[in-house]
Amino acid sequence: MYKISEIAQILHPNRTFITDPNSFVQHLFYDSRKIAQADNGIFFALQKNRDGHRYIREAYEKGVRNFVLQADEGQEMELLEANILWVADSLVAMQELATFHRQKFDYPVIGITGSNGKTIVKEWLFQLMSPEYKIYRSPKSYNSQLGVALSLWGLSDQYNLALIEAGISEKGEMLRLEQMIKPTIGLLSNIGVAHKAGFKSKEEKIYEKLELFKNVETMIFPNSYLENIQLPYRPRKFSWGLDEGLSLEVYSIKQVNDRFTMVTFYYASRTFAVEVPFVDKGNVENAINCVAVMLRFGYENEVIAARIKELQPVAMRLELKKGKKNSSIIDDSYSNDLDALQIALEFLNQQGQHPFKMLILSDIPGVHIEDEKSLSKLKRLLSEYRLDKLILIGEVLPKVAAQFEVPSISYSDTTAFLADIRSLSFENATVLLKGGREFHFERISQLLVAKSHDTVLEINLNALENNLNVYRQLLPKQVKLMTMVKAFSYGSGSFEIANLLQFNRVDYLTVAFADEGVDLRGAGIKLPIVVMSPDESSFESIVQYNLEPEIYSFRILFSFLNFLKTKQIASFPIHIKIDTGMHRLGFMPDEVDRLIAVLRAEAILEVKSAFSHLASAGNEKDWEFTQGQIDLLDEFTKRLESGIGYSFLRHIAATSGIELWPNAYFDMVRLGIGLYGIDIERHDLPIREASTLKTNVTQIKYLPAGETVGYNRHGVLYRDSKIATIKIGYADGYDRRFGNGVGKMLINGFLVPTIGDICMDMCMLDVTDVEVGEEDEVIVYPDIKSAAKAIGTIPYELLTSISQRVKRVYFYE
Ligand SMILES: *Cc1c(COP(=O)(O)O)cnc(C)c1O
Repeated sequence: MYKISEIAQILHPNRTFITDPNSFVQHLFYDSRKIAQADNGIFFALQKNRDGHRYIREAYEKGVRNFVLQADEGQEMELLEANILWVADSLVAMQELATFHRQKFDYPVIGITGSNGKTIVKEWLFQLMSPEYKIYRSPKSYNSQLGVALSLWGLSDQYNLALIEAGISEKGEMLRLEQMIKPTIGLLSNIGVAHKAGFKSKEEKIYEKLELFKNVETMIFPNSYLENIQLPYRPRKFSWGLDEGLSLEVYSIKQVNDRFTMVTFYYASRTFAVEVPFVDKGNVENAINCVAVMLRFGYENEVIAARIKELQPVAMRLELKKGKKNSSIIDDSYSNDLDALQIALEFLNQQGQHPFKMLILSDIPGVHIEDEKSLSKLKRLLSEYRLDKLILIGEVLPKVAAQFEVPSISYSDTTAFLADIRSLSFENATVLLKGGREFHFERISQLLVAKSHDTVLEINLNALENNLNVYRQLLPKQVKLMTMVKAFSYGSGSFEIANLLQFNRVDYLTVAFADEGVDLRGAGIKLPIVVMSPDESSFESIVQYNLEPEIYSFRILFSFLNFLKTKQIASFPIHIKIDTGMHRLGFMPDEVDRLIAVLRAEAILEVKSAFSHLASAGNEKDWEFTQGQIDLLDEFTKRLESGIGYSFLRHIAATSGIELWPNAYFDMVRLGIGLYGIDIERHDLPIREASTLKTNVTQIKYLPAGETVGYNRHGVLYRDSKIATIKIGYADGYDRRFGNGVGKMLINGFLVPTIGDICMDMCMLDVTDVEVGEEDEVIVYPDIKSAAKAIGTIPYELLTSISQRVKRVYFYE
C-alpha cells in the first residue's frame, strides 16, 4: 500500500488537489464498470478507446477518492472530497508507478515474449516450478502497455519468483515494457511466420522483441528463430535447437503415440529424454522452452522429465453455456488463482439474464488460505460480487465457510456434491464453475449444461469486443453508436451479445420485432431498444417494455397515436424512418410537411431520431446515388427539425457506410455485420470473425470406385474413396446447394469437399486424400465470404440461417 502523498512524489504531477494526504492506495482502477469495491482504490482516467475522463463521476459515486487525470478541467470543483493528481499522460503515470513498485523487489523476474506460446509457457512454468518457488505471474494474458503495468502492481513480498509476459504490436513499445519489467532472465517463446501490421518486416519485429533482453543476465531462446540476427551484447546466451554447440542440444523429437512425443536432449555432457504429453509442434516447442528454463534454474534432469510428463493443457477460456431449467452455466477452465477468480466473477456480474447468481468453488491449489492475506482477499472478492449462493468443495475452504458473507453449502469432494445435486436448485440462476483440475468440475458441467447435439456455433466475445472498438475508432468522438442485434444478433445470440454491448456502453440496440426487445428486457438489458418493424399487435408490449418504435408511414403513425391516447401516455419516444431511395419502409421526401403538421398537433410523441438507410453504399457505380441519399436525409431532417421545433439524432450509415462514407455519420451510425467480424468493403480493418460453426466426424467409410453416396445416388465415386459422415444438414442451416462438392469444410487443416446431396441432419465429405479420424473436429465455413459466393448469397444469410437447434457456446479467451 502507498499513501497518496507518496504516489504524488513518485509521479511528479503538474498540479495536485489533496484533501487527505494519508489516504491509502492499494487497487488500480481504469474502468469504472469494474469497480465493485472502491476502498483504497485509485482511478486512472486513460484515453484509450473511450476517454476515461467521462467516467470520473461514476468512479467517484462508487466511492473512489483518489484520481490520476490527464485533462485538467478543474475537476476539484466537483470531486470535493477527492485527492487528484493531474499528469501529462495517465497511462505513462500508471507505468511509472508500476516501475517504482517493481524496483522494490529483488527476486528473479522472468520476462517472456514471443509471437505465440507466451501464456502457455508462463502457465506451465508455474505448474512445473511451484513446488520450489512462490511464483507470481501476469494474470491471463495481460501483456500490453496497460496489462504489464497492472501485472507488475501485483508483485509483493509473499513471492520469490515472477513470470511476466510482454507483448507488442508496433515499433517502440518494447522499450517501455522493458523499463517497467526490468527482467533478470528473458525467454523468447517463438517467432511467428508472418509479420504483422505495425512492423515493416519480420526482422524489425524480431529486433523489437529482443529489446526486452538487453539488460537481462541470461536470455533463453530457440536458436532457429535467431539465425543471422545480431543478439543483444550483454546477456549470457542459453540457446536450444537441433544444431551442435548450442547450450541445450535437441537430439531427436519423435512422436510415440497419439498423446506423447519423446524429446531427447544433450546437456552438460549428459543425454536425457523427456516425454511431452502433447503431439502438436507448438506445444512440443513450448515444453522445450520450459525444459530450458528449468535447466537454467538448476533442476535435475530426472525431476524435469517427471514433471514435464504431467503437464496439463492450458485452457484459456471462459465459456458461457445454456443450462437446464432456465439457467446459464459459466464454465471457467482457466487457471485457478484469485486473479482468475476475480476475472470470472466480473464476467458473472455482467450477466443480467437470471435473478440468481451462484458460485461453485473448489479449494484453490497454490493459494494458502491459512495465510491471512489470501483469506482476506477471497473474503473481499466473495462479498464484492453480490452472490446469492456459494457451494464450496474440498478440505480447506469449507473450514472457513463461516467467515464468508454469502450463504454457503460445503462438500468434501466433487463426488459428494454430485450425490447431493438433485436436492439443489439451479433454476433461474447463472452458475459460475471454478474448480481446480483435480476436482474434475467437468463432471458437474456435464450435468448442468443443457444437452444438444455436437454441432455448435462458438462465439468469441473477445473478437466482438475487438470489432466494436475497431469501428468505434473510425468515428469522431461525438458520433453515437447503435448496434444491430436483430435476427438473434445475426445468428449469434440474444442477451449474451446484448449484455456485452451494454457493458461496453453502446448507445442503442436495434431489433426487428417487438418480441426480440421483450426478451432482451427480460434478460435485464436497460439500453434504449429500437423496434424496426412494429405493428398494431405489438404496441402493448412496446409500451409495457419501454421499447422505441420506428414510425415509417402515416398509417402506423396514426394507429400508434390512437393507441397512446387510449392509454393516456404522453411524450413517448419514436424514430422516424425516411425513404431516401431504398424504397422499402419510410416516409417519402414530399411527405415532410404533413408529417410536421401531425407531429405538431400531437405533442404526445417525442422524435428521438430520424433516419434513412443507404441502398448501395458499397458500389462505386452508385456513388452519386448514395451522395444523393445523404443529401436528402440532410434536407428532410433540417425541415423536420425547424418544423417541430426541437432537435433529434440523425443517422443513415450501416457497416458499409461506416467503412466508406465518413460524411454520412451525422449524429449516429448503425453497426451490424461488421460487429460480427465480417468486413464488407474495407479489408484493412483488424476485425475478427466472431463465430465459428463446428461439428465433428461421426463415421468414416472406405468405399470402392463405382459406389455412390447419399440420396438420389448423386455422389458417384470415380476412385476408391474414404468418406466421412458429419452431423450437420440443411435443418441446421447448411444449405442444400452446398451439396456435391460446392461446399468445402476444414478438417485438421485440410480443405475437403462435400460429396452427394446434403441430408436433413447430416452430410458427407470426401476425405480420401487426407488424414482424418472419427470424432475429429470439422469447421463448416473456413471462409464464409467465399462459401456465400459459391451458392450465390451473402454472409448475412448464412449466419442468420444457422438453426436454433445448433447450440451456441460463448467464450472469452
Ligand atoms: C440491418 C440494418 C442495419 C445494419 O446493416 P449492416 O450492413 O449489417 O451493418 C442498419 N440499418 C438498418 C435499417 C438495418 O435494417
